[in-house]
Amino acid sequence: MYKNLIAGEWVAGEDAIENINPSNTKDVVGLYARASFSDATTAIAGAKQAFPAWSRSGILERHAILKKTSDEIMARKEELGRLLAREEGKTLPEAIGETIRAGQIFDFFAGEALRLAGEVLPSVRPNIGVEITREAVGVVGIITPWNFPIAIPAWKIAPALCYGNTIVFKPAELVPGCAHAIVDILHRAGLPKGVLNLVMGKGSVVGQAMLDSADLAAITFTGSTGTGKRVAAASIEHNRKFQLEMGGKNPMVVLDDADLTVAVEAAANSGFFSTGQRCTASSRLIVTEGIHDKFVAALTEKLKTLVVDDALKAGTHIGPVVDERQLATDIDYIEIGKREGAKLAFGGDIITRENPGFYLQPTLFTEATNQMRISREEIFGPVASVIRVRDYEEALSVANDTPFGLSAGIATTSLKHATHFKRNLEAGMVMVNLPTAGVDFHVPFGGRKASSFGSREQGKYAAEFFTTVKTAYTLA
Ligand code: NAD
Repeated sequence: MYKNLIAGEWVAGEDAIENINPSNTKDVVGLYARASFSDATTAIAGAKQAFPAWSRSGILERHAILKKTSDEIMARKEELGRLLAREEGKTLPEAIGETIRAGQIFDFFAGEALRLAGEVLPSVRPNIGVEITREAVGVVGIITPWNFPIAIPAWKIAPALCYGNTIVFKPAELVPGCAHAIVDILHRAGLPKGVLNLVMGKGSVVGQAMLDSADLAAITFTGSTGTGKRVAAASIEHNRKFQLEMGGKNPMVVLDDADLTVAVEAAANSGFFSTGQRCTASSRLIVTEGIHDKFVAALTEKLKTLVVDDALKAGTHIGPVVDERQLATDIDYIEIGKREGAKLAFGGDIITRENPGFYLQPTLFTEATNQMRISREEIFGPVASVIRVRDYEEALSVANDTPFGLSAGIATTSLKHATHFKRNLEAGMVMVNLPTAGVDFHVPFGGRKASSFGSREQGKYAAEFFTTVKTAYTLA
């Protein structure tokens, strides 16, 4: 059984988490120790004890560990990608791509460790110097979802370590394998005892122990908006820094003047790749009248060509839904869409394949309105709907009429509309003639409204969350 890493020791759990391959439910990926409440408490104490030394560690030591981790991830990308595909159901090319991204993130922060810098400013008073430095925050709690089980932990763990924080990391219960593999690589790269702790287990037990602890100086969370609100409430209670990346209901606008091929590729990718299980997925296709029928016909033809099958099989475009519960949610929303009066244009059914798995057809609704639940709530499956609008102005207004604000896209050949959209769309990330998903690893990631809270993740912007600024005055 794979164990938790607590205060420098690999520790068995209360019982075992059995993770099942969603492409083939007869295949058990592994047995992973389930941490208890008191394991989480011991892990937090271990991270607290390790903090003073690690926060003062040399930048060459941090650089070397992060670089070694990146090198090993890159060298093992096929193997780790296979594990990810088997555990979470992402297709093998997508899973290897995610693994490479994690390697690039560790490489980036290996570099950042050598670029730590402050500022020296003159004071407004004579004979006084002002120094501004960034210091580590303390023990950081990292709570992650299942849908990017290698990349999301990487983009939180790498900057946390780079800037001198110690960590208690709680991955989602569906994906302990990827979490364990990454922590094992970091541990063997030479992290001192207690700097990185892994506690695999239930959100309501291990996650709750983290929320309840007065010893966590910060929590960075990615997951659903509901859980995010709990993290926020507990963090305010404990006076701690927090960062939330949550759900999305991302709009993709298609204007009359769009290149149809570009629009269809972007919509198919945004709505259905990674089985629609991306926070940046687009399930709201807002299409102007002049191109509506052509676009729906072309997208439907495209969906017919997408192969839904085992994530590890060559030629699969869409893998299975992650588990039975998520599949039931997707089916519920398909029924809600039908009841609300949207027209089922394609898909809608569970399908069977050689092995038992959670396979769902890519599903497209048309004649949806922006008031329907399928247009307002995050489904997190391969289900998208088309909302017909008159013109660009109505498209923009519908696109912004959502509680969420993570990413958004527009397909147009008009520079005027593209520019106006970039300026006026209320989201953290805006794509022109590109899918709403698909982001670089070295630039800011995050959103607005119910999608995000706090400073941005990724790239040099990550320093904002993982450091705290100190201003020192010295009399000359
Ligand atoms: P989730 O909220 O169910 O779980 C996320 C994590 O929180 C898991 O590790 C879970 O065990 C933990 N958790 C659950 N209850 C807890 C509690 N009481 N205390 C502490 N921790 C607790 O989300 P999920 O189903 O794993 O992930 C899907 C969601 O994540 C979607 O809403 C998706 O949009 C979102 N997501 C957002 C981003 C982003 O960057 N905005 C990226 C990926 C996924």
